[in-house]
Amino acid sequence: MDGTVDTVALTSWVREFGRLVAAEKERLTELDSAIGDADHGVNMDRGMTAVLAVLAGEAPTTPADVLKRTGMTLVSKVGGASGPLYGTAFLRMAAAAGGADALDAPGFAKVLRAGLDGVVARGKAEAGDKTMYDALAPAVDALDGALAAGQPLGEALRTAVGAAERGRDATIPMVARKGRASYLGERSAGHQDPGATSVTLLLSAAATVLGGD
Ligand code: ADP
Ligand code: MG
Repeated sequence: MDGTVDTVALTSWVREFGRLVAAEKERLTELDSAIGDADHGVNMDRGMTAVLAVLAGEAPTTPADVLKRTGMTLVSKVGGASGPLYGTAFLRMAAAAGGADALDAPGFAKVLRAGLDGVVARGKAEAGDKTMYDALAPAVDALDGALAAGQPLGEALRTAVGAAERGRDATIPMVARKGRASYLGERSAGHQDPGATSVTLLLSAAATVLGGD
């Protein structure tokens, strides 16, 4: 891997995310049972299983094609908050990828930031609301910072995973201000946010699959 992310690499990223979601399904649902309705793992696994089936069909032709099919499938297969949020993220990533056959490291970072912007456009989350934003936003910032500092993509993605993990862990004491967990008010404190946990898997998958430089 020379830091170029082509259609095959992008497909591998999405597939690895699906594999991690399946492996962590019980954990994600358990987290959601504490501050939500105990369906986050089930929701994400249903969606990603459908995505993997779609990607296993006709081979995608561009990075944008992979991202668009992923987003459209998540929007149609996943109910609740996370379907539209992840779906919008992937659709915005597809738009940012444009017609390119491959993305270089800054291009991939731009795509990921477009995904974050999609989450914000859809859910209006801000820092400290105890959502997936609290893991994704620091990860995207860390990726930009690491690339600007001259790290190759793999190292920069590992830096981004560290930022996502810290952001995820920082959701534990937060009082939720968005989504179902916000109905609990102060009682939402003391629990790790499920969406911040799943989005950390998205970053981990990128580091595993795209980080071999
Ligand atoms: P639901 O809450 O509808 O059951 P899920 O359980 O699948 O949906 O997903 C819950 C996750 O969605 C939360 O842990 C949180 O990270 C994320 N979430 C909820 N509302 C928002 C929002 N407005 N912006 C960003 N993320 C959100
Ligand atoms: Mg839920």
